[in-house]
Amino acid sequence: MLGNMMKRHLNTSEILKFAEEIHGARTVVSALNKNIRHSITYREMAARCRKLANALERLGVTFGDRAATLAWNGSRHLELYYAISGIGAVCHTINPRLSAEQMVYIINHAQDRLVFIDTDLVPIISAIVDQLDDEITYVILCEVNEMPEHGLPNALCYEALIQQETSEYIWCDLDEDIACSLCYTSGTTGDPKGVLYSHRSTVLHAFSTILAFPNVFQAGVKILPVVPLFHVNAWGIPYTAPLVGAEIVFPGRNLDGASLYDLMNDTGVSSAWGVPTIWISLLDEIAKRGSIPEGLRHVVIGGAAASGQMIETFETLGVDVAHSWGMTEMSPIGSSGQLFLPESDLPMNEMLELKKTQGRRVFGVEMKLIDDNGDKVAHDGDGVGELYVRGNAIISEYFENPEATANAIDLEGWFGTGDVAKIDEAGYLTITDRAKDLIKSGGEWISSLDIENLAMSHPDITNCAAIGAYDPKWDERPILIVVARDGIKPDIKSIFDIIGSNLAKWQVPDDVVFVSSLPMTATGKISKLKLRERFWYHLHSKPV
Ligand code: ADP
Repeated sequence: MLGNMMKRHLNTSEILKFAEEIHGARTVVSALNKNIRHSITYREMAARCRKLANALERLGVTFGDRAATLAWNGSRHLELYYAISGIGAVCHTINPRLSAEQMVYIINHAQDRLVFIDTDLVPIISAIVDQLDDEITYVILCEVNEMPEHGLPNALCYEALIQQETSEYIWCDLDEDIACSLCYTSGTTGDPKGVLYSHRSTVLHAFSTILAFPNVFQAGVKILPVVPLFHVNAWGIPYTAPLVGAEIVFPGRNLDGASLYDLMNDTGVSSAWGVPTIWISLLDEIAKRGSIPEGLRHVVIGGAAASGQMIETFETLGVDVAHSWGMTEMSPIGSSGQLFLPESDLPMNEMLELKKTQGRRVFGVEMKLIDDNGDKVAHDGDGVGELYVRGNAIISEYFENPEATANAIDLEGWFGTGDVAKIDEAGYLTITDRAKDLIKSGGEWISSLDIENLAMSHPDITNCAAIGAYDPKWDERPILIVVARDGIKPDIKSIFDIIGSNLAKWQVPDDVVFVSSLPMTATGKISKLKLRERFWYHLHSKPV
């Protein structure tokens, strides 16, 4: 028997309409340059989105068309999110740090009809325009008097484009299963793979994220997404913040510790979201200035493992850390490290043990662990296996890529994350490694994360990565690649002492190598692939 309730589709435009009506006076602040900040209310922004919707339709954009963005975190980018999806088209966010080759691949694979570009990113597109479809219209995100030299055919000015439109536009009730946005994964191996989000998945993801971080999502508080809008919807903040009436502070392109510190301090940010690399430089800045930015209460750390040291430093400074795990394919939030009573009242050392895990699954994400034999592993805190997930905001397939889909989805329809994990009886998830990152020595797994976490507690190490290096006897042995604080190499014995204090002897790296910097992927993570390529024969030469 069916229920007797109305069926209204879940649409992203509903979020915008709600924010306009209920939280209309709340603001979105965007850092443009050092000390120049732009501010707009949700009410004003909603009107501009309607103008943009009219402009898009006038340009002939229609249902299912892809319109791409190549832009930093700012309010125009947010307008594009809502206007493009609101008319039934698909907002394809492009990572400006991709190689030219990858960018050409994804723009052509997505068959983008329009590309919206921040002024300073125009040269990236000019350099590849010959390899893109002639029919693409380019729109530069600036005022008329800011139009740069562009060398692009069909280039328009964003402000001129929307200025001529009326702000009358009625968002239609779109089928909730149609696509609203598209993001390609970082592609450390092979071609990037497209993840096509639907209106339904996006709205449900926003609901479950708000439920999972209740301390963060409050009306009126200021949230800083350091995580980019081009990286998996900035972890959903474009939708969660307007829904609860939180204000957004966009950092623009300056993500160094000093710029972030100033922005947070001046605007009173209470919650900041980003990857560990970002927090390393912010913590250095905090150490220099002797205090945290005024108002900062919460950081959400995800995208890569946060070291225990980092979590403890924030907590000692009075900043509540939620360590979370997720993936582009999951919209992306899969787990939340936000603690609730009674755990949030535990003594610091016990609380830290929980906070060092990746937290607990959010509503709407089911998890299972599978071992090497394909058997389910118990959630008992000991058993380790590959993590599979299932839920309404998780991909059922990659965008026009059946081969990648076949490799990722199991026979029961679960998505294989490629992460190796354990889950305890209370539901705390610990990511122990990535399947492709594992160091397997003599048939036994060694967790690169364990080694890195211990090494990061050394006061003279700013960043590090543990990788497997070729060993004729054990197949692989771990080595540790280290960036020393201020370039001054610490005594190697002191590093071995720290690592050896908590690991079995065979798990301790065979060598420590100092480098001036670590290679990064386009999404700001350490590229283990590049490190393995470079250091695979570091311990032993290639067998003949
Ligand atoms: P995001 O960076 O938004 O999490 P990606 O799709 O780029 O999304 O990367 C997802 C991968 O990043 C995960 O499969 C996992 O390997 C790693 N990852 C994400 N969050 C964490 C975390 N908190 N701890 C360890 N690894 C993480």
